[in-house]
Amino acid sequence: MMAGYQHILLTTDFSKCSQQVAQRARDLANLYHARLSLLHVVDNLPIADSVYGPVIPFDVDITDQLVETARKRLRAMADELGIPSDSQSLEVGSPQLEIIRVAQESEVDLIVVGSHGRHGLSLLLGSTANAVLHHAKCDVLAVRLKDDE
Ligand code: AMP
Repeated sequence: MMAGYQHILLTTDFSKCSQQVAQRARDLANLYHARLSLLHVVDNLPIADSVYGPVIPFDVDITDQLVETARKRLRAMADELGIPSDSQSLEVGSPQLEIIRVAQESEVDLIVVGSHGRHGLSLLLGSTANAVLHHAKCDVLAVRLKDDE
């Protein structure tokens, strides 16, 4: 028989459906007695994509503030899920690249994403979710989020 999951990585962008995604990850971790880790990536691309042209993508002051705010939200969400601090990760960069990198480095065997995040329901599958599904070396669960939820 195939062994169950041992290390599940929950990714979150703190959007309104993230509780639903988190609950599914928590349930699976309980079911498999797996370690559950939580990752948020502070996306530095909006600054690079700014309508004001090629702004330096890594403004230290702005990034510091975003990271500080994100760290608090991450800690609050992790506390609710009973995830200890050594299983909480905060990265700065491209969400899809960082999710793949952290998953590989931490020997994750299941990545949990929402089918959609902050970028809304205009696509069949969000672009981060899509990229993670394409590039991950492990299983990926895209928790289906619908309009009416
Ligand atoms: P998207 O494809 O951007 O609509 O987002 C789909 C899912 O990808 C979200 O529900 C999250 O699970 C994950 N995700 C998106 N952005 C981030 C981020 N900045 N940090 C961590 N996970 C993210």
